[in-house]
Amino acid sequence: MERTPLVAGNWKMFKTRAEAADYCSALLPLVDELDEVDIAICPPYTALDIVAERIGDAGIGVWGQNVHDAPEGAFTGEISCAMLIDAGATGVLLGHSERRALFGETDEALARKLAAALAGGLEPVLCIGESEAERDGGETERRLSTQLDGAMTALSGSQVLQVTIAYEPVWAIGTGRSATPEIAQETHAFIRGAIASRHGEECAAAIRILYGGSVKPDNAAALLGQPDVDGALVGGASLDPQGFAAIARAAG
Ligand code: PEP
Repeated sequence: MERTPLVAGNWKMFKTRAEAADYCSALLPLVDELDEVDIAICPPYTALDIVAERIGDAGIGVWGQNVHDAPEGAFTGEISCAMLIDAGATGVLLGHSERRALFGETDEALARKLAAALAGGLEPVLCIGESEAERDGGETERRLSTQLDGAMTALSGSQVLQVTIAYEPVWAIGTGRSATPEIAQETHAFIRGAIASRHGEECAAAIRILYGGSVKPDNAAALLGQPDVDGALVGGASLDPQGFAAIARAAG
């Protein structure tokens, strides 16, 4: 099955509205001709509308970095699916390792967020990944299975088809130490096999699994060239439009 590559940039808590606008102006001409690669940007909430206005029409996805599962309520500092959509978002990151580690996000909460995103019309991107200690201790597959089961068990086959998985080994995020292409391929193949055993071969063949963790212009081609690596979720290197465009080109 042909899966269109997808390259997404997670800006985290970087860029003001003015900086976001400048970035969009710089990025657009660099990715204009890249018809065979899907592209998305995850700006901070305050810049969602600017990014959507500037590059949404070019078919570039605009994703929130988190969402609350409730439609509205007394949840200070949180944001709902409808609010993200109102600001121009088309998708949302769920379970980024920083949200899990620094803000106590659990697999149970992610199951609720995933259901809310699907019901609310946002493309969900579920991030999973093991810590360095878990990889060293031979616990990677158990950890990834727990994260997949915790968030996705209740989903129907047609819902699973709307989810993108981002495999992001925690030891590779923001460390400059990417997984080798071999480790990425082996782990992505494991994830695809886990989806096949839970949701069927058809879902497994169709679902996109992105790699994230210190993807840079100089290692992107080797990582993205692996058969089960369907794209990249890029943190630090996505802050520069030239570097991000170079990574997107490597996916094409
Ligand atoms: C991320 O935060 O999703 C990420 C992959 O970061 P970096 O590319 O900086 O490792």
